[in-house]
Amino acid sequence: MARPVQYNNKVKFEGIPEGYMGEGFMATRFDKLVGMARKNSLWPLPFATSCCGIEFMATMASHYDIARFGSERVGFSPRQCDLLMVMGTIAKKMGPVLRQVYLQMAEPRWVMAVGACASSGGIFDSYSVLQGIDQVIPVDVYVPGCAPRPEAILDGILKIQDLVGNESLRRRHSDRYKDLLAGYGIQ
Ligand code: SF4
Repeated sequence: MARPVQYNNKVKFEGIPEGYMGEGFMATRFDKLVGMARKNSLWPLPFATSCCGIEFMATMASHYDIARFGSERVGFSPRQCDLLMVMGTIAKKMGPVLRQVYLQMAEPRWVMAVGACASSGGIFDSYSVLQGIDQVIPVDVYVPGCAPRPEAILDGILKIQDLVGNESLRRRHSDRYKDLLAGYGIQ
């Protein structure tokens, strides 16, 4: 678990992994270092289809300022992003498109379902609406609410950061992960 470290009674480091530190050097575990770099440089891909996307716009603006979490580089090219944020009602016709975007993202990638519609279809229990994006792609974090406030979206980012920072480098090669993807028909 990362914790604040006081160094030389002058400099205080926040969020660095456990390790051994001296004059001009620091030793820690490689996976912790990679986790720290990844969690503080998430590149979100906003897949916004309706009202929850507006809340995300507020989350990006100066008051809530998602840049504080290293996630200000929002991208619309799946190949360069590692956090898929799905916000809004997803029609069944959009399901294959969402899945295609997910498949175009390189590993490691994480997925956040923002709001009731993305998580479960929300109030739209109808023939045309996907009853949760986890029917087509695996989801790491669900953010509840209709619409969730920016604080809730930021809480989701923090939860993703926890996952990213503590994820084993071997997880993506594990049988369990391969089984998870196979459950979605992804090789
Ligand atoms: S959860 Fe509510 S606010 Fe978000 S897209 Fe659905 S209806 Fe709109």
